Amino acid sequence: MHRSHTCGELRLTDAGKHVTLAGWVARNRKMGGLVFVDLRDRYGITQLSFNEAVNAALMEEAAKLGREFVVKVSGLVRERESKNLQIPTGEIEIIVDKLEVLNAAKTPPFTIEDETDGGDELRMQYRYLDLRRNPVRRNMELRHRTAQAVRNYLSGQHFMEVETPVLIKSTPEGARDFVVPSRLNGGQWYALPQSPQTFKQLLMVSGFDRYFQIVKCFRDEDLRADRQPEFTQIDCEMSFVEREDVLQIFEGMVKYLFREVLQRELPEVPRMQYDDAMRLYGCDKPDLRFDMQFCDITSVAKGKGFPVFDQAETVLAINAKGAAPYTRKQLDELTEFVKRPQTGAKGLIWCRVEADGTLRSSVDKFFNQEDLQQWATACGAEAGDLMLVLGGDLHATRRQMNDLRLEMGNRLGLRDPFNFKPLWVVDFPLLEHDPEAGRWHAMHHPFTSPLPQDLDKMESDPGAVRANAYDFVLNGVEIGGGSIRIHDRNLQQRMFNLLGFTQEEAQYRFGFLLDAFEYGAPPHGGIAFGFDRLCSLFGGSESIRDFIAFPKNNAGRDVMIDAPSNLDAAQLKELGLG
Ligand code: ASP
Repeated sequence: MHRSHTCGELRLTDAGKHVTLAGWVARNRKMGGLVFVDLRDRYGITQLSFNEAVNAALMEEAAKLGREFVVKVSGLVRERESKNLQIPTGEIEIIVDKLEVLNAAKTPPFTIEDETDGGDELRMQYRYLDLRRNPVRRNMELRHRTAQAVRNYLSGQHFMEVETPVLIKSTPEGARDFVVPSRLNGGQWYALPQSPQTFKQLLMVSGFDRYFQIVKCFRDEDLRADRQPEFTQIDCEMSFVEREDVLQIFEGMVKYLFREVLQRELPEVPRMQYDDAMRLYGCDKPDLRFDMQFCDITSVAKGKGFPVFDQAETVLAINAKGAAPYTRKQLDELTEFVKRPQTGAKGLIWCRVEADGTLRSSVDKFFNQEDLQQWATACGAEAGDLMLVLGGDLHATRRQMNDLRLEMGNRLGLRDPFNFKPLWVVDFPLLEHDPEAGRWHAMHHPFTSPLPQDLDKMESDPGAVRANAYDFVLNGVEIGGGSIRIHDRNLQQRMFNLLGFTQEEAQYRFGFLLDAFEYGAPPHGGIAFGFDRLCSLFGGSESIRDFIAFPKNNAGRDVMIDAPSNLDAAQLKELGLG
């Protein structure tokens, strides 16, 4: 071993011991006849001290150590004169008697400090150096602890971890597949799994009963800050269960993770119908850290001669408590916000409740005090509050109001990352209509079972059929989603029919699953959690990239290894692509 202790280990009680440490040079300071070197490893920093009066040659050598040199030292642990109580090893130092440079290092392109001078792109290019920084390493440690806790909990509940293949046939999860050419089967392609969905269902047919896997999934989608082309799921499936059983087990898992990883209690997990989530929050993953529910003021806003509302299908308001003092400038900013192309509203109407109860709005021309009072009553707005109002068609107005609600939550400081508000959203629609293609898509995936009481509507009124599906939402982020599955061949066939697959297509793509359903498929259901997202929420960060050791950038590139990249002609030819 190159070391007897780590750089985070020694304390005052170790004074007098002769030790050997190894690590990286974090800092090197010369002060008169003394040289101090901070030696860093994964566990911490220990101060090394070199004294000209004791060993001048050794001190000279130490003075020459560059940043990030890898060194090994031996010496005596001694109580420090000027202590640094900010770090656990800050009461001691090592009086070095032996120094060995294990490897020199070039000056790193950015400082390896908690607050670095390196920009995003540079840090990604040298990710192996970025990972030396405390905040980044801590994120990886949190990820590791979370994975360990997941395995503990699920193993304790008799779930078995089973690996499923990566070179497979397309599994529809609503994204594009990444594909891999097959050299041995010229002209044919594997798809990388968007999830192990069909395999975990087959494992239920095999009688494995309770399966899980912490597994990479691949989806070729347009990227956003919280998306990666490859990401990790905690993928789970259970047999002989109903929805309630699945919700209980996985609420239990999240509760366990909160305790183990965050040393916190998971707050109560309310349940919300999809329809209510859409009506009250305009989205299927409401952020419950703050109220500001939508108020439908259509009936009192229409018919007063204001053309925008008169033509609107719906008029929605939110009440921003205490925001009446918003200045003209702030209101203009909000208007600009809703008019951004991403949100796409035409404008924003506001109405404030003054201290004396008078109502002042941007549409005073059309609405008198009595009219506006009806808005205030509907919204429960009181003196000091600000109502923000949007009108238009139902779908767009809900979406726009959701954006505005979240923005107001930010502006009013209501979205503390460490205030955790979980939620189950249940009873999603089974299908989603795609007006362009003139067909139905599965909202979750085609293997999701309809609610039993809606089965008879499948052919007559497909849009009204609800799915036996559920999402786990934390602070406005969907971190888990799953469903009770179809386990009956005929029902699965009906589902494929609804989705517009011909019998042949269904057989070609999913024949293996349909066949398996004829060999004793138990009732089953499951869920998958986005592991990267879960870790980032636990870490109080918005970005999953910070919790992935080697992430891709916004263009789907790994700038460190420079991938994707070209293949040479010979390789292409071999694959039948050249
Ligand atoms: N396979 C689904 C997904 O990746 C999760 C599930 O239904 O278990 O979203």
